[in-house]
Amino acid sequence: MNKITNHLPTAELQAIDAAHHMHPFTNDGELGQKGARVITSAKGVFLKDSEGEEILDGMAGLWCVNIGYGNDSIAEVAARQMRELPYYNTFFQTTHVPAIALAQKLAQLAPGDLNHVFYANGGSDANDTNIRMVRTYWAEKGQPERDVIISRWNAYHGSTIGGTSLGGMKGMHGQGSLPIPGIEFIEQPNWYAEGGDMTPEEFGLARAQELEAKINEVGADKVAAFIGEPIQGAGGVIVAPDGYWAEIQRICQKYDILLIVDEVITGFGRTGNWFGSQTLDLKPDIMTVAKGLSSGYVPIGASLVSDKVAEVLAGTEFNHGYTYSGHPVACAVALENLRIMEEEGIIEHVRDVAAPYLAEKWHELADHPMVGETKIVGLMASLALTPDKDARAPFASDAGTVGLIVRERSFANNLIMRHVGDRMVISPPLVITKDEIDLLIARARKALDEGYEIVKEKGLM
Ligand code: PMP
Repeated sequence: MNKITNHLPTAELQAIDAAHHMHPFTNDGELGQKGARVITSAKGVFLKDSEGEEILDGMAGLWCVNIGYGNDSIAEVAARQMRELPYYNTFFQTTHVPAIALAQKLAQLAPGDLNHVFYANGGSDANDTNIRMVRTYWAEKGQPERDVIISRWNAYHGSTIGGTSLGGMKGMHGQGSLPIPGIEFIEQPNWYAEGGDMTPEEFGLARAQELEAKINEVGADKVAAFIGEPIQGAGGVIVAPDGYWAEIQRICQKYDILLIVDEVITGFGRTGNWFGSQTLDLKPDIMTVAKGLSSGYVPIGASLVSDKVAEVLAGTEFNHGYTYSGHPVACAVALENLRIMEEEGIIEHVRDVAAPYLAEKWHELADHPMVGETKIVGLMASLALTPDKDARAPFASDAGTVGLIVRERSFANNLIMRHVGDRMVISPPLVITKDEIDLLIARARKALDEGYEIVKEKGLM
């Protein structure tokens, strides 16, 4: 058998991939016919594929490569940690320096009294921790019947059994008999698609008040927590109208319901602050983090836990944890990533340079005949495709048909831009420069123009 390297022809790599590799969120039968794109290396905001194409990664991988690709000091820290202590666990009354140091650093960076860290491998399993943690919290407080968690339709909280259950993706629930019992949903604050004739503010308030109605329906004495992303990411970069989160928090406080804020995407600079909770003035009892914590260089996630919750948990043995909770290499890499973010002023770069510049250029795309709204917070942005701007109308074709056409034109023009239904989304590395933003926008516009021609040819608008 040939050794598999970057030097094998693309078709050969694709054939072996199709024979043996099952891809996440993919119809492998279809992909096998077509062949997967083979990425071979990356630097800064650019990927290189096996055909030698240089692709601008407008998604920072899966919303995670915040400091950009190819950082040598991270590689060195990982190698050093692997030589010194490649693995040890944090069960059985044991700890180690990388886990201690990262926990202290996270407590310092996180807002409010989120002073405690429970480590996971990524976002999904951190949310699994959260399900068990909030239920254990209430059981320890003598209210074990408080076990319902309220979430939102079109939320994304991961793809484990727990993460899928917390998420509001109906297509995911359909596979595997989910959600698990004790998860309830309210509608999302997506004014563009669902707001009708209401103003965004009226609509946001109405959607937030669904939480109170749901609490009353379930019974306040049965509700443990509410979970939400500050800005729905995988749902299409949906930004709630002003006033929405204030009302959600008022209701959580009124009924003494824990607030879990899922910052897997919005954490670590994405919105121009360390956390989306700072941008949107949220006061979580538990925060989920992953992705940007290590800029995706190694898998790591965590639940950041408030004094209030940690004090109660400290009264019992919480029978939960992963072999790799607080993995020393992952913790060392995350610490180095946070050091780089601080010392290189990456959050300031987002806040003062990249986000304002991208916002200006992104909003200019609203003049395109197929673009209904443009939304952006920090360096996460979306635009809605529509055949009729004034009516905010959807296309007559199945949702996602037009989005997929534009995504394919985007890939063909060497820009990774994703579609969620008929919304296009971007989330580039935080280190992106103004020149690179110009290139991103030029390619996005070209994808829209070419997509528009195809849409008209196919009679889709
Ligand atoms: N929560 C949110 C908000 C996410 O966006 C994601 C991943 N896209 C997850 C949880 C799941 O994280 P992971 O894929 O690391 O398990």
